[in-house]
Amino acid sequence: MTDLVDGRAIAAALTEQTAAAVAGLRAQGGRPALAVLVATPDAGAAWYLRAIERTAARAGIDAQAHRLPGVPGAADISSRLAALSADPAVHGIVCQTPLPPGASLATVGPAIAPGKDVDGANPASLGAVATGLPGAFPPATAAAVLHILRRSDVPLRGQRAVVVGRSTVVGKPVALLLLAADATVTICHSRTPDLAAVCREADVLVVAAGRAGLIGAGHVRPGAVVIDVGTNPSAAGGLTGDVDAAAVTGIAALLSPVPGGVGPVTTAMLMSHTADAAARAVPAV
Ligand code: NAP
Repeated sequence: MTDLVDGRAIAAALTEQTAAAVAGLRAQGGRPALAVLVATPDAGAAWYLRAIERTAARAGIDAQAHRLPGVPGAADISSRLAALSADPAVHGIVCQTPLPPGASLATVGPAIAPGKDVDGANPASLGAVATGLPGAFPPATAAAVLHILRRSDVPLRGQRAVVVGRSTVVGKPVALLLLAADATVTICHSRTPDLAAVCREADVLVVAAGRAGLIGAGHVRPGAVVIDVGTNPSAAGGLTGDVDAAAVTGIAALLSPVPGGVGPVTTAMLMSHTADAAARAVPAV
């Protein structure tokens, strides 16, 4: 028997909490605002922007899209991020990916003020998460994975956690947050020999590889918790995860599916981070 995480319900509850906090900030004269920098006409980025705008509206947060025309370079993107960082009316900043050729999140991220870095794009934010310093925001997806585990009452202290993927936006921050929760963490990547054997050691398996169906029955220990972060285009025109859900059903105790798992919680988490960032700024309003 495998229970499924209801990411949409978890996201709705988190957004409701955020909306209550935002209402309090507005009552004090605050006007929480999230700026989203859009540097390419990528269809996936446009879809994500609409999801952000919908969730922001539910939370009472002003979402502002800032589109850069043409093919902006890293200097143009950094300069706009620095201007948004200096704008007291902006509380959270997201720099959408993919970025145009020549620009990367690692190079433009430092232009986002850490206090407004609600998606953990500034390497300083990851450094603060790694060192346990308070006040920094991890990437929203990594925070969403931990939020799902907590809301699902999954024990982490002393448990074996395996993370598949070592990217700066998902794998590494998820591993750091699991470590901070006292799990014993192993990180796998494309050069890990016998991935299935390592994954079978996991009480909690988090998969963020971007490879449809990478994880099958042979990767999951009976009773394990499996969080699928991967989003891959499916043959039917929708999204499919990195985990072969049919194959692990009946083996995993709990599965966070794609779609309907980490994705909606990520967007809700961005709003929660923005409300937190605004709360720090409101006394100065
Ligand atoms: P990424 O930067 O491409 O990193 C993928 C990682 O997976 C790399 O570390 C890579 O190893 C590893 N990997 C690839 N193939 C592997 C294999 N066969 N065996 C073991 N490891 C393998 O991707 P990302 O940005 O972290 O995103 C990962 C997935 O999460 C994507 O599908 C993305 O769309 C999704 N995502 C979802 C959300 C959400 O909100 N739901 C947010 C962000 C990302 P190497 O380092 O050795 O190359």
